[in-house]
Amino acid sequence: MSDRSGSHPSNRRPIHRQVSFEFLGTGVSSGVPVIGCSCLTCTSRDLKDKRLRCSAALRFGGDRGEERTILFDAGPDLRQQALRAGLERVDALLFTHNHVDHTWGLDEIRRFNTLMEGPVDIYANDHTLEFLRRVYGHIFDSKNNVQPSYVASVIPHRLLPMVPEELFGLRITPIPLLHGKLPVLGFRVDAVHPMVAARAGIDDLLPLAYCTDVSGIPTETWPMLEGLRTLVLGALRSRKHPTHFSIDEAVDAAQRVGAKETWFIHMNHEVRHEPVDRALPNGIRLAWDGLVLPRTAEEERNEDEWALGWRE
Ligand SMILES: [Zn+2]
Ligand SMILES: [Zn+2]
Ligand SMILES: [Zn+2]
Repeated sequence: MSDRSGSHPSNRRPIHRQVSFEFLGTGVSSGVPVIGCSCLTCTSRDLKDKRLRCSAALRFGGDRGEERTILFDAGPDLRQQALRAGLERVDALLFTHNHVDHTWGLDEIRRFNTLMEGPVDIYANDHTLEFLRRVYGHIFDSKNNVQPSYVASVIPHRLLPMVPEELFGLRITPIPLLHGKLPVLGFRVDAVHPMVAARAGIDDLLPLAYCTDVSGIPTETWPMLEGLRTLVLGALRSRKHPTHFSIDEAVDAAQRVGAKETWFIHMNHEVRHEPVDRALPNGIRLAWDGLVLPRTAEEERNEDEWALGWRE
């Protein structure tokens, strides 16, 4: 299905009335295809095999009905992802951890500063904030720049595990996860007012947990994964890996969590969408770039038309 307007179908959603979750990128740190690789996935014509670096956008009407966008991570593909998804604002940017594939898009926040005429609130744990301050000196110590220049304007906020932030009618709780030896954050998203959420159809999506790079779930985190409608979980490849769940490990964790829907992300090029997705248990799927939740019945029936990879 061609889309001559160049706009993404998610743009046409009534986002003031319904919360939506868009997978901006579902790929490993190298992206898929991998540069210079001629494997079956990297040469696949399936748009679901085109994966930008992991990021996601939660778009909804805030507590006074105004449009809001919460962004999870800002990787090196943020510019391309924002263009494709039609993002015009970032009300909060939440970082899961400091790795380059999740942070190297911070400079793109400049454009949202201009559009929104102000700084953007960013949220991260101490380790990630320290990393950002160190590698983005031109942003955090802009007074030392050789000359005044157009750099991103951000307001950093410190996240503590298990201490929820209330943002525009949503409660976002940072949950501790292990990424190899590195403690990272996942995010659990609940509606602050369940009755309002039910009227707005938000129960079709929330509670949702976003858990990207993860190889272990600490004991204290399991209760935070109870009662989920939607689980988004990292699953790197079939073979074991020291810092990421394999597909089998992610399936085990997803089945223990028991969310109504689980979507895997952060797949590498050993994972070809169609055969791997088909072999997953009921209720567990591989996500793809451009997928927007919740889906209408029509979108589920015609899901390949909604697989918005690199259509041009
Ligand atoms: Zn990653
Ligand atoms: Zn490949
Ligand atoms: Zn990582």
